[in-house]
Amino acid sequence: MQILLVGAGLSGAVIGRKLAEAGHSCRIIDARSHIGGNCHTERDADTGVMMHVYGPHIFHTDDQEVWNYVNGFAEFLPFQNRVKSTTQGAVYSLPINLLTINQFFGKTMRPDEARDFIAGQADRTIEDPQNFEEQALRFVGRDLYEAFFKGYTEKQWGCAPTELPASILKRLPVRFNYDDNYFFHRFQGMPKDGYTPMIAAIMDHPNITVQLDTPYSADMTATVDHVFWSGPLDGFFGYDLGRLGYRTLDFERFTHDGDYQGCAVMNYGDRDVPWTRITEHKHFSPWEIHDGSVCYREYSRAAGPQDIPYYPIRLVKEKALLADYIARARATEGVTFVGRLGTYRYLDMDVTIREAMDTADAFLNCARRGTAPPAFVTSPD
Ligand SMILES: Cc1cc2nc3c(=O)[nH]c(=O)nc-3n(C[C@H](O)[C@H](O)[C@H](O)COP(=O)(O)OP(=O)(O)OC[C@H]3O[C@@H](n4cnc5c(N)ncnc54)[C@H](O)[C@@H]3O)c2cc1C
Repeated sequence: MQILLVGAGLSGAVIGRKLAEAGHSCRIIDARSHIGGNCHTERDADTGVMMHVYGPHIFHTDDQEVWNYVNGFAEFLPFQNRVKSTTQGAVYSLPINLLTINQFFGKTMRPDEARDFIAGQADRTIEDPQNFEEQALRFVGRDLYEAFFKGYTEKQWGCAPTELPASILKRLPVRFNYDDNYFFHRFQGMPKDGYTPMIAAIMDHPNITVQLDTPYSADMTATVDHVFWSGPLDGFFGYDLGRLGYRTLDFERFTHDGDYQGCAVMNYGDRDVPWTRITEHKHFSPWEIHDGSVCYREYSRAAGPQDIPYYPIRLVKEKALLADYIARARATEGVTFVGRLGTYRYLDMDVTIREAMDTADAFLNCARRGTAPPAFVTSPD
């Protein structure tokens, strides 16, 4: 079959590869001038530092098959994310762990003592938390909430934490040991030469052609049997029901001679510091040595029509509109909506790859049975 894949990010690449291996002819297009979608990496021309152009990306997964898959296309080196936070005039370790608690409260507690201490801090008058703030207060109490959650969340989401759902904090966000590895997953690492060569290797197949600087236009579907759409769900329909809300990020780039902050990610918890965090890109490739350094000061704000959509907002208003677009998509034949924009969800890279593999399998099964492929293999709601 002739397949059109809109978007040369991980979703388009992984689906395209599986279908190409099954003998289908795949054309992958992207409006941007590079492949890789938001995972795109490139070397800074002046310093040689490997830049995570659309924000830092750390690969982490428990999915053995996904881990084997990425290692088949790139050499991965060990990398663990160890985030720090500057707040209220001091630097602390994140996620909140025993070191953070002892430093913050000026104590020398052991795990059991800290557990009891935090239980004493927690606001137990809140029995049925109705929002993010109440949930955080119920878990960690006001002092830790204000230092590590309140200001950061206000900056990241542009609203009061009382307007966000309690479900964001599902469990106690505190560790009672000195483990400061940001992620829990078994497999964690970074592709030695960045993500873009890995995604190029995935797309390197005789049945795949890639066209950059090529925005989708409706006439492209005339000669194809099926479309996989990894662009914005509302964008496919020309935003005619309205726009799904996103947060966008502004990256203020600056350079430094030497080591600017001594770590890859420094969060800023105080509300009066306008940026959410600073990322220093050479620390994402600790096996490389560079004299110069390139950093991003990261700001979050509501996305306008011309901005890159980063984080789907998915509050009550967006969910109602999303339901309408889902109905539209389900009534549209010949298109499967995939990936973080096509399904309007935040997806880590490993989940994106898993869903892309499952989507390709579902499509191949439909092709074998002669049935119509679904609009969504993973439902956005
Ligand atoms: C700030 C940030 C940090 C992240 N950090 C991590 C991390 O540390 N670890 C992790 O596992 N995941 C991380 N992620 C998630 C990761 O970026 C996604 O999993 C991944 O990018 C999803 O791939 P995708 O192909 O679905 O979408 P994308 O990468 O967004 O690719 C979609 C592509 O479609 C193209 N496109 C859109 N519309 C059109 C059109 N009309 N015509 C042609 N082309 C079009 C776009 O140009 C884009 O290249 C992060 C995400 C963000 C926003």
